Amino acid sequence: MRTGFAKRGDFLPFSRPTIRQLEIDEVVDTLRSGWITTGPKAERFEKDFAAYTGFPHALALSSATAGQHIGLIALGVKPGDEVITTPMTWASTVNMIEVARATPVFVDIHRATLQIDESRLEAAVTPRTVGIIPVHYAGAPADMDPILDVARRHGLWVFEDAAHGVGCRYKGTHVGCYDRLGVFSFHPIKNMTTAEGGVLVTQDDELARTLRALRFHGLEKQAWNRYAEGGSPQVEIVLPGFKYNFMDMQAALGIHQLASVGEFNARRRELSSLYDKLLAEVPEIEPLAVPDYDHFHTRHLYVLKVLESARLTRDRFIAELKVRNVGTGIHFRAVHTQPYYAARYPRWVGALPVAEWVSERLCSIPLFPLMSEDDVRYVVAAIKDVLVSAGGAGAPARK
Ligand SMILES: *Cc1c(COP(=O)(O)O)cnc(C)c1O
Repeated sequence: MRTGFAKRGDFLPFSRPTIRQLEIDEVVDTLRSGWITTGPKAERFEKDFAAYTGFPHALALSSATAGQHIGLIALGVKPGDEVITTPMTWASTVNMIEVARATPVFVDIHRATLQIDESRLEAAVTPRTVGIIPVHYAGAPADMDPILDVARRHGLWVFEDAAHGVGCRYKGTHVGCYDRLGVFSFHPIKNMTTAEGGVLVTQDDELARTLRALRFHGLEKQAWNRYAEGGSPQVEIVLPGFKYNFMDMQAALGIHQLASVGEFNARRRELSSLYDKLLAEVPEIEPLAVPDYDHFHTRHLYVLKVLESARLTRDRFIAELKVRNVGTGIHFRAVHTQPYYAARYPRWVGALPVAEWVSERLCSIPLFPLMSEDDVRYVVAAIKDVLVSAGGAGAPARK
């Protein structure tokens, strides 16, 4: 072997949650307590999350997607309304716009950071536009000042997709509530996990009241304790709601995960810096750039682009890494190129060149707090070996 590369025996996944004895004990305690669904631990978790982010209302939910669904309803989105977002997001962001019978309007992204290109927002606004959903991609914030400026000038709401952003700050403030609403995810690959789960944050009391009712069958009061001693079994339905509540089983994980998310993020940042340093020597790979405005990055994902000089496709690159026991992810295929959206909104196909170019080339390599520095070095060695085998790295430069 030309690189002296030695394949490791075990598979390194691209992500793995950090679950410690403390979380396990708390879940077992919940199971034994007789109260396993929404209850005192869910309530405590919401208080902790509100305190951590500094926002008055944090509503925990079964998922971030659930939050995106009821968030759009609470914001009053109607059929025919237009909502501006980025194609570089998980499908749920766009799916929930579609479920609300509104029309997604896409704005292209920056090639270097993959954040929504705020300079293109203004041109996307029409008389039917009601709001903007920016995504804080990979744990860095979108450039909120110009986004908020466009929103204010056109009377639009902003609903932040902060699924990657627990701990992320933009100009000193935690992301999530620059305007009306924000949503975070606790899916197992995110910076902290409750297995499944999410939270909506808002500073608006009225919106919070509506969201509480929408979250749980349309009940006005939080009636989780109606069967407990002192609770009343009577309930009042004030609107037709969903069943998107957050269980104490999830909160048992979340309470300890939230208390450690600062450490988890610090570890992600260390590992990312090591990747940055080692990958700087690999010209066929373009890692995600860090935005130049003031922010705190949670390093949710380590995303790179496989350039033409690598002389292999991204899909081959992924397959070759897998052969070398390295797992990867794709975050994301540009949503407007997905079969449903390409058929429903053909006008976008070909109209978002940066997102489309990137969508074919990006790949997320392993990044999670339990990884070692040696794991990072191994991944970079595997990447170099893949490139050498493809005739890229180490081969005579052909630029
Ligand atoms: C994970 C994710 C979501 C959805 O989160 P769930 O909790 O899985 O519903 C939404 N948006 C983005 C950008 C995500 O990465």
